[in-house]
Amino acid sequence: MANETMRALVIGAHPDDSEFGAGGTIGKLARDGWNITYIVCTNGNKGSHDPDVSTYQLSEIRETEQRAAANALGVQQVLFLRYNDGELEPTPALRAEIALYIRHFKPHSVFTHDPWKHYMFHPDHRTVGFATIEGVVSARDHLFMPGLGQIGITVWRPQGLFLWTAEQPDHIEDISETIDLKIASLREHHSQLNHVEGWEERIRKRAAETGTEAGFAAGEAFRKMPV
Ligand SMILES: [Zn+2]
Repeated sequence: MANETMRALVIGAHPDDSEFGAGGTIGKLARDGWNITYIVCTNGNKGSHDPDVSTYQLSEIRETEQRAAANALGVQQVLFLRYNDGELEPTPALRAEIALYIRHFKPHSVFTHDPWKHYMFHPDHRTVGFATIEGVVSARDHLFMPGLGQIGITVWRPQGLFLWTAEQPDHIEDISETIDLKIASLREHHSQLNHVEGWEERIRKRAAETGTEAGFAAGEAFRKMPV
């Protein structure tokens, strides 16, 4: 156990969500030797105000940007589920799919959206939050998906489930040493941020405010759910 590589699974609705929500923490875990896998649920193909870009072009652009951002943080694997942006629903199928990845990758920590966040605009964020929480239950309990157990894809219980942009955060991660890494990873999302004035300052200011509560120069807040 002492020499076991720690693993994290980070499940976001769109390319860039994981960096916004937990980039500093992910960069820190990677630096500490964790093996990190991203699951990006949708292709982000509605995320543009450019009248000349097609949904097909945007999907490709955003996967390339996501790979570069993950690389900047030291994330080893990036899976693209390629559902259409804005059309994700918390179906039993999506829950089962996420449960299968959890059983496969056996993460010690899982990170995702807080689906209970009030006034959260994007439906995909809620969907992914709920599907991940419910997927953890299906991954954890052997009477869910019993056929998988019969072919050796056995149960897995993560130690912690962390919800970013949390409605009621109860855990602040010190990202003082990796806030620059978070910014660098976000900068890779050119299609989303190149035209946005002042985003870096806003991210740094929010991280500083979050960190202050816990005595850190910069922080990221989560709701930590016991599994
Ligand atoms: Zn998003």
